[in-house]
Amino acid sequence: MKKEKNTAIVLAAGQGKRMHSKIQKQFLEIGGKPVLYYSLRCFQDSPLIDDIILVTGEDALAYCRSEIVDRYGFTKVSRIVQGGKERYDSVYAGLLACEDTDYVLIHDGARPFITEEILRRGMEGVKETGACVIGMPSKDTVKLSDAAGFVSETPDRKTVWTIQTPQIFSYNLIKSVHDSIRRKDMSQITDDAMVVEQESGTRIRLVEGSYMNLKITTPEDLDVAEIFLQIYK
Ligand code: C5P
Repeated sequence: MKKEKNTAIVLAAGQGKRMHSKIQKQFLEIGGKPVLYYSLRCFQDSPLIDDIILVTGEDALAYCRSEIVDRYGFTKVSRIVQGGKERYDSVYAGLLACEDTDYVLIHDGARPFITEEILRRGMEGVKETGACVIGMPSKDTVKLSDAAGFVSETPDRKTVWTIQTPQIFSYNLIKSVHDSIRRKDMSQITDDAMVVEQESGTRIRLVEGSYMNLKITTPEDLDVAEIFLQIYK
């Protein structure tokens, strides 16, 4: 039987406007290395991962090749491709670059602190239905607001998760739902599982990531990341 092939699609094409920095957040440094380095290191070292597609902006293709992939010897990076305007455009560019793969792990390059354990739990989770997202039960009570800024609903906290990446799918499932939703309005799509929720009846397994698996988004996240780095692994 053919061994299954797992491809990590690492997204690094965002502009990161909330960081208020000229350098995109995935290229800012923590511990003397770019944020993007850490998740690539985890995928490179994981026996679960066969290859990595790195998606970045047109202006960063050469930088990623020389300063990240070649410099740190990320030999599993099979292609570096140009992303798109929205996150889902970058995901689609990554999906089109995959070759003969069974499962894809779509990951934000701005989330440095993934671990082998998270990948292992995720790969187990995806085997149930072909769709699995990493997240954590919410520590805070969550409220939904109405358009005027008043509370409209308080979901039972026990059922609320905040969602992280990687989000893992069977390639055929995620490629086909992307193909079909791209013909419609995608303006509300902020993560990969939403595409599956809207376009297929597939149940999506929730699997625990970690409270350290933060996405670097605003300047204070960089300070937190420096502290997390001391206890990472
Ligand atoms: O903007 P947001 O925080 O949702 O970005 C999450 C991840 O998606 C980041 O790693 C960012 O580089 C990536 N992204 C992308 N292409 C875009 C927008 C975001 O690759 N057009």
